[in-house]
Amino acid sequence: MPPRLPPLPALRDFIHLYNLRAKKILSQNFLMDMNLTRKIVRAAGVREGDWVCEVGPGPGGITRGILEAGAERVDVIEIDQRFIPALQHLSEAAEGRLNIHRADVLKLCIAEVWRQQDFACSSSHWIDETLPPAHVIGNLPFNIASPLIIKYLREMSNRVGPWSFGRVPLTLTFQLEVARRLCSPIDNEARSRISIMAQMYSDPKLVFVIPGSCFVPPPKVDVGVVKFVPRTVPAASSPFEVVEKLVRQVFHYRQKHVIKGLKTLYPEDMAEERAHEILREVRVSPSTTSIRLGVEEFAAMAAVYERQCNEVPGLFLYDYTKKKMTLSDLVSLPNSIPSPYPF
Ligand code: SAM
Repeated sequence: MPPRLPPLPALRDFIHLYNLRAKKILSQNFLMDMNLTRKIVRAAGVREGDWVCEVGPGPGGITRGILEAGAERVDVIEIDQRFIPALQHLSEAAEGRLNIHRADVLKLCIAEVWRQQDFACSSSHWIDETLPPAHVIGNLPFNIASPLIIKYLREMSNRVGPWSFGRVPLTLTFQLEVARRLCSPIDNEARSRISIMAQMYSDPKLVFVIPGSCFVPPPKVDVGVVKFVPRTVPAASSPFEVVEKLVRQVFHYRQKHVIKGLKTLYPEDMAEERAHEILREVRVSPSTTSIRLGVEEFAAMAAVYERQCNEVPGLFLYDYTKKKMTLSDLVSLPNSIPSPYPF
């Protein structure tokens, strides 16, 4: 039987305690309804004995839900000193299961934290259908959630960070519009660069929607809870940066034919030939649009682009927004594709 945890403060006390009205920093929106925080923890799939890293716990609404679910070890990463005393209070009641790290989630390495505690994960192999007994969960400010998901997808693709322990599921909140984009299927209006990147390395699911009115203070938008389960094998075998660059440029002209975006990967004097080469090899029509392309097609295009970058040293460095470069400028540059990660 898990120990009784101290209750969350009443809403009025909470606003006073953390000086929320006076200092509404970084669009913070807190969840004070334990039915909702427990629902997030259930959706994440936390079970008794699991290890959980929660990013941005604030006063600990979701943390309580995680502890109640019987997690064996909970590591929370919180940047704001104002919430540390409340978390310490919770930690005392949790009898050693809750560990507080005052740090920036964009900088702290979760794997280091877990490794220091000798987290031994028997089912951690990537080919295993069984997921490891570990989770990363967070309700972060919207302006952090977006860069964080790119950082986490990169780590997932390289099997580093929490993903050095296997296919650790990740559950994060986003403003609903972004959540829909992350999970958007092919040929859907919401399909975008982030849909492809998320689906290239994971199977993202919009597990439920939380009305904005349920948060304190309420944001203007509703919020989507997204669970990302890493794919056993990523759709793309090219380095993350190569995939990201290709996908970004193809979506640069979302409404236009795909060939137009592809051409922005090359200097003018080679664009026509090399962009058509990609499409010919992957059997994609130049007049299709980016939202109609599947993740596998993007993966195949990235593989051809990677080969081209190896053939023309410096091509990967080409940035069509910068000064006009030609093929002869690029061949004198070093090949800068990041090395593939050795699994
Ligand atoms: N998870 C809590 C909840 O649901 O009530 C708090 C949510 S609030 C939107 C986001 C929390 O993330 C805040 O406590 C904030 O201080 C913290 N935070 C913001 N940026 C952070 C960062 N870079 N690293 C760690 N924590 C961060």
